[in-house]
Amino acid sequence: PPQINEDFERVVEWADEVRRLGVRANADTFEDATKARELGAEGIGLCRTEHMFMSPDRLPAVRRMILADTPEARADALEEILPMQQADFEGIFTAMKGLPVTVRLLDPPLHEFLPNLVEQSLLVQRLELTGGDEGELKAARATLAQVKRLHEQNPMLGTRGCRLAMLYPEIPEMQTRAIIRAALAVKEREGETVGVEIMIPLVALEQELQTQRSIVERVVAEEVGDSGLEVLIGTMIELPRAALTADRIARHADFFSFGTNDLTQTGIGISRDDAENGFLAQYIIDHVLERNPFESIDVDGVGQLVEIGVEKGRSAKPGLKTGVCGEHGGDPDSVAFFHGAGLDYVSCSPFRVPIARFAAAKAVLD
Ligand code: PEP
Ligand code: MG
Repeated sequence: PPQINEDFERVVEWADEVRRLGVRANADTFEDATKARELGAEGIGLCRTEHMFMSPDRLPAVRRMILADTPEARADALEEILPMQQADFEGIFTAMKGLPVTVRLLDPPLHEFLPNLVEQSLLVQRLELTGGDEGELKAARATLAQVKRLHEQNPMLGTRGCRLAMLYPEIPEMQTRAIIRAALAVKEREGETVGVEIMIPLVALEQELQTQRSIVERVVAEEVGDSGLEVLIGTMIELPRAALTADRIARHADFFSFGTNDLTQTGIGISRDDAENGFLAQYIIDHVLERNPFESIDVDGVGQLVEIGVEKGRSAKPGLKTGVCGEHGGDPDSVAFFHGAGLDYVSCSPFRVPIARFAAAKAVLD
């Protein structure tokens, strides 16, 4: 990571005077948010929340939530996690001192929170063979049944993102509550307002965003009271269908953030999990685009989807705020492209923020 010394700081400040694009960071802990601010980030463009469900102290409750068979039991399990997530958000909001923070609601498929199919099958077999504790065997079988139910051949195109939230509305409810309570606590403590932006992932259809927005809005109204806290609700544009129907989606969005990792995966049809390895990596290098499209935006294809998304989104909602939060947000060539496409900001890993600040200035001067 670059060290910020005085000379370097002066040069990036010159860049700041020239650039039009805002530069935010992708950060999801107090430490990353603090680093992002030190490196000049003007907000957080993507706070992923999956780790807030994954840590060992929360996993048992998350698993209970997944195994629960009534909405009430699910909500009970989530209630246990709420204060812990609230504390996480308080840390992030405190570090950002009033700058905007885009929190993305839970994205990964639920099977990621369960033991894997093979391990769980082996556990059940072992308990059956050793004639172990009845209760333990029953629990292991119930988990196995759930693991099988949630198993998908193509999890990246499966029940993740807002699809999860459609099936388990208790999850966005709990997360929204944790976010708003954290923002109000920080506002009270620091005397500074918090720029809360709640983002719905993997939206393909207008109805998905409409439904999710109404859930988030309801909880916001319940929690905000007369505090005057303002909350924006927006969506990721990371599927071709969303980009192509951005005018309809924009009706329910206060902002768009382009998820160019998934948009590249689904736009070109290349698995992002395999792009670094083996045959596919070789194929990409030798035959596709000469450059890895997950590192530098594929201007002709995925780039066009971004341009269409911006144009259609703004045709329905003039001035709609748009950003990008895929890895491309810190790649200089991609930053130049996003500048040309008229985005408002890019968001990248904290250590790439200074590079993005330079690249955004260069895009103006070129
Ligand atoms: C994206 O898809 O570009 C994105 C930012 O989300 P994630 O990488 O978490 O899927
Ligand atoms: Mg994504």
